Amino acid sequence: MSDLGRIDGRTKLIGLLAAPSGHSISPAMHNMAFRKLGLNYAYLAFEVGNDQLKDVVNGIRALNLRGFNVSMPNKIKIMPLLDELSEVAQFAGAVNTVVNENGKLIGHMTDGIGFMRGLIEAGVYFIGKKITLLGAGGAATAIAIQAAFDGVAEISIFNRKDDFFPRAVKNAAIINEQVKDTTCNANVYDLADRDRLKKEIADSDILINATGIGMKPFEGQSLISDTSWLRPELIVSDVIYTPRKTKLLAQAETVGCKTINGLGMVLWQGAKAFEIWTGQEMPVEYVKEQIF
Ligand code: NAD
Repeated sequence: MSDLGRIDGRTKLIGLLAAPSGHSISPAMHNMAFRKLGLNYAYLAFEVGNDQLKDVVNGIRALNLRGFNVSMPNKIKIMPLLDELSEVAQFAGAVNTVVNENGKLIGHMTDGIGFMRGLIEAGVYFIGKKITLLGAGGAATAIAIQAAFDGVAEISIFNRKDDFFPRAVKNAAIINEQVKDTTCNANVYDLADRDRLKKEIADSDILINATGIGMKPFEGQSLISDTSWLRPELIVSDVIYTPRKTKLLAQAETVGCKTINGLGMVLWQGAKAFEIWTGQEMPVEYVKEQIF
């Protein structure tokens, strides 16, 4: 059925609030899934920055949209405009998915859920394991918090001493002191401490790059300067998916490590949002075939 035939007087609208918004794969991903399952929803991207956010959220309430995704630069600024936040969104200090439950706007953070699900789909068992995590920005924070919720035993967070370093310290404090029902232990180190980085990687089961180093304008670069720090049993993952194989993943491949790029994260964060809005499972295999 064409979209024209599919959209009718009862179609529920989902939006993306981001600036820029045109490059996002979310509209294609969700509309494809709605069409495949015959669900009466449509997903549209809206170019919305911080300045318009309050008015847009009022408009969403007035129009009774079913929900929306939030991306840069709105993931933090959206929070005070919502009625409720999931525990993970509160701890991560950011929201990427909002659902409208009878007029109540509830914020979720599905990026970390998406990353962890991507690991599971790649056959990686992480409960009770140790992770070395590079970064403390939006992606890294979502992963750190979700990993603690999901049963990872230890996380060593490395960040350079830039504006994100205090967030690294905060993430570790949240994991150590506030995330209930977990015994996860988190530590923070300066990325410049190469000896410590080498040691923590040697002790870890999984190494994750959650910085932008490896994609434009840093394509061809890696935060790991020496491949002798890697070993075949280490699982190496990168949140980047453009390019599919970053320098870090290429380095890891030469050593014989299992490697996982950021495609799983983007796909499964969307699948979780889809489930929150529709109550149905996204036809992930179909979407993957069509888009990736
Ligand atoms: P951010 O700006 O919030 O965080 C950037 C992080 O990179 C910080 O930890 C910062 O300290 C670190 N950093 C920046 N420059 C550095 C340098 N020269 N050396 C070392 N560290 C440096 O960004 P973000 O939103 O967390 O995005 C990070 C990456 O994750 C991007 O490449 C983005 O495309 C990717 N991402 C992927 C997904 C996915 O679904 N796969 C989702 C979100 C983000």
